[in-house]
Amino acid sequence: MEKKITGGCHCGQFRYETTSELIAPHYCHCADCRKLYGAVGAGFVVVEEQTTISGEVSVYESEGDSGNRKQHLFCGVCGTPIGERVDAYPGTIVFTPGTLDEPTAFVPEAHFWVSRKAPWTRLDDGLTQLETQPEG
Ligand SMILES: [Zn+2]
Ligand SMILES: [Zn+2]
Repeated sequence: MEKKITGGCHCGQFRYETTSELIAPHYCHCADCRKLYGAVGAGFVVVEEQTTISGEVSVYESEGDSGNRKQHLFCGVCGTPIGERVDAYPGTIVFTPGTLDEPTAFVPEAHFWVSRKAPWTRLDDGLTQLETQPEG
């Protein structure tokens, strides 16, 4: 039986469901993520095509440090940061792990952009720390 992972925003208007593996689960500490998520950084998991989404999103486009054009997705009603679509990776969508219904589905592997982290961010969880982010 295929494992199904579900999630959604705070108000419940936006929902997603996927049978994809959760790829490259990580935290990002770049300045863009701090601003976009209004937090110490952000967590992300990448999922592939076998994902359905429902609900209205508000979209904000920007170009990240990596030069990647991104569409940041927020619930159109409550504003929960849902994740992003990255032009360079068609067929995938990135979700914020805080939106997972079952948080244990997120098993982070690394911290990205540690070179840009805020001075008040302490990383002592033993995960791999990357100065930037992996290629590709
Ligand atoms: Zn919502
Ligand atoms: Zn980032």
